[in-house]
Formats: sequence, structure tokens, C-alpha cells
Amino acid sequence: MKTALITGASRGIGAETTRVLSREGWSVIINYKNSENDALGLARELNAVAVRADVSDPGQVRDMFEMAGPVDLLVNNAGIAHYGLFTETSEETWRRLFAVNVDGIYNCCRCALPHMIREKRGCIINISSIWGIKGASCEVAYSAAKAAVIGFTKALAKELGPSGVRVNCIAPGVVETDMLNCFTAEDKARLACETPLGRLGTAGDLAELIAFLASDKAQYITGQVITADGGFAL
Ligand code: NAP
Repeated sequence: MKTALITGASRGIGAETTRVLSREGWSVIINYKNSENDALGLARELNAVAVRADVSDPGQVRDMFEMAGPVDLLVNNAGIAHYGLFTETSEETWRRLFAVNVDGIYNCCRCALPHMIREKRGCIINISSIWGIKGASCEVAYSAAKAAVIGFTKALAKELGPSGVRVNCIAPGVVETDMLNCFTAEDKARLACETPLGRLGTAGDLAELIAFLASDKAQYITGQVITADGGFAL
């Protein structure tokens, strides 16, 4: 059985992705940072393992991979957002956004890749955002970090193609998870109205796409940024 490690899998897109991958026969490892009850509940539900690690901390990530052993699929999903004017974004917030959203991916890839390269197969899926492509007002740090994830994905895909490792990126639109808690119901209704498909995304929408990219059906796809946003960014 092939093994997948999903970061930020205690809630939202990560938790749903873990459920879908498990259903499709992957042995799944659930990474989390704070939401222990959610992570342990999901682990019980799926008969899987949950490992606490802050992805921004290289030492914690190394310990996590030592516990997990070799993985065939790494889903770099853990992420944090920040909403506020750029002129009021502190240096600390700026650095934290990059530490989790960008350094976290670097830390996890560094640990996952030696096995994948040795085996000449493997798959990495990074979760960016449509704001990493278009830029969002009042989300400059988040947009910049998510744009970095796209550059990272394309460059790594070129470097690792000859080693048989695929690296892709997903750019979700507005997805109904805890990440939207800073928005009111009216804000969300307006965003749904602005979306050609007439609704916000669900964690399940993204999970199915991630499972497809991880599967052999996507074996000729690498270095891509796939937008899943109901047409919002058109
Ligand atoms: P969410 O519901 O807020 O969940 C975030 C997950 O990330 C949680 O499981 C959280 O774990 C984990 N996490 C946060 N910081 C972490 C850290 N330092 N180390 C390890 N895990 C950490 O968010 P979501 O909407 O599912 O977002 C998942 C990904 O999709 C993120 O990369 C986000 O930027 C991206 N995205 C979301 C949307 C959207 O509209 N929701 C749109 C575009 C892109 P704990 O709770 O255990 O700390």
C-alpha cells in the first residue's frame, strides 16, 4: 500500500483530502499543529496515524518524517492566511505567513524527496491559491507567499522530472472552511454570487482534485497550476 502524508490535515481541505485518499486505498499520515482532538478523531475514523508538527519548524518536520517513514505522496496543504492592510501588516505577521506557507513546503519536501528520488517515483502536491496568481487586496503577504509556492512548484517539477517525481500545484478559489471565518455570511453570499458556478467551493471539491493528481490517471501531468474556483478568477 502506498503512503501519503498530508500536512494540515486536522481540518478543512486537508482533512477531507485525507478521507478521500484513504478511501482510494492510500495509507494516510495526518499532520496537525493545534487541533489535536480533530486530528486524533480523524485518525480513529480512518485507522490512520496522526503526527503533531509545526511545518515551519525544520526539527519538528524531521522528527515527523522519521516517525512516518518513507512517503510516496506529500500533500503540502498546511497554510495560514492574514487579512489586513499592507501598511498595517507587521514584520512578524509577514514572516509567519512565509514561514508556514513557504518554508513549510521547503521543510517537508527536503525530508520526503530522498526516498522519492531513490525510488524514481513520487508525487508532491502543493496548495497555493488563486490569490497567488491574481493578488488580493488586503492579502499582500498571503498572495506573495502563495505566488512563491507556484514558482517553487514549477522549478522543482523541472528539476525532478528526470527522477520520475511529479510536482503540481492547486490554486483553490474561495472554499468554505474555517479559513473564511473572518468573513460574514453576507460576504460569503456575495462571493458565491460572483462565482460563475454560483456557489463557494467545498473541501470535497478540492480533495477529489488532489486525489486525481495523486493517481496514475495524472501520470503525465507535472509542473502545473490547476485552478479550482468555480470560475471565480475568469
Ligand atoms: P483551515 O480550515 O484553516 O485549515 C488549516 C490547516 O492547516 C489546519 O489543519 C491547521 O492545523 C493547519 N496548519 C496551520 N498552520 C500549521 C502549521 N504551522 N503546521 C502544521 N499545520 C498547520 O484552512 P483550509 O481552508 O483547509 O486551507 C488549506 C489550504 O488551502 C491552505 O494552504 C490555504 O491557504 C489553502 N487555500 C484555502 C482557501 C479557502 O478559501 N479556504 C483558498 C485558497 C487556498 P491545526 O488546526 O492542527 O493547527
